[in-house]
Amino acid sequence: MAIITLDYKKSNFIAEKLHSLDEKQRSQLHLTDDPEICGCSLKAFCRLHYKFPAKYSRKTAGIFMRGILYDELFKRPFNAVEVEKKIGFVVTQKMTGFIVAHPDVVLGKYPIEAKHTTRIIQHPSDIPACWITQLTLEEVYCKVRLGWLVIGDLQSTLVTAWKVKIDKEEEEHLLEGHVKRMSELASAIYIRRHSNGLKPNWSECPSCYYNYVGGCPERKKV
Ligand code: SF4
Repeated sequence: MAIITLDYKKSNFIAEKLHSLDEKQRSQLHLTDDPEICGCSLKAFCRLHYKFPAKYSRKTAGIFMRGILYDELFKRPFNAVEVEKKIGFVVTQKMTGFIVAHPDVVLGKYPIEAKHTTRIIQHPSDIPACWITQLTLEEVYCKVRLGWLVIGDLQSTLVTAWKVKIDKEEEEHLLEGHVKRMSELASAIYIRRHSNGLKPNWSECPSCYYNYVGGCPERKKV
């Protein structure tokens, strides 16, 4: 008869390997670094200037792992390959840069952004604003004014697709705000001073993977 015991050492070893599968420490400014999407402008600063590794707590690792699994599941039927879209922008008179975006799926020329949740989403007002911002900016990057947000309910397994249309005026407004925020971010990273216009969003700290001793300089200890 097989003797089964819980191997703590091996469990920790494998958990550490899984939890260190981070965002491959992306070395470019990414659309989702926009504080309106990721929630705090210090996150990109930590990654790009300090080059801190993202460290996961049990809670953030769970969110991260579910995200990867759902992403893979979602992309499979579309045979989706990673598409890179770029926007060039001016940071200062002496400095220009670009921001990259990787929509989950681009069907035809339209972006589809997949999200998963345990919340009940029945009405557009239930959808987190940062998801809408992300998708509409992907539309701007793809040079279209239409896209879909596909939301998977992890509890009921219900999948809903929300069509999101913008007009020319919204497109211009979105781009202007995005480029302004990204320029502030890029310039703070360039001059290596996070106090230069970047505001921490402390409500994000409890679930932030830069919130550890020796990590984010503005972190709120929780
Ligand atoms: S620890 Fe807090 S302040 Fe620092 S990057 Fe994370 S959310 Fe922002």
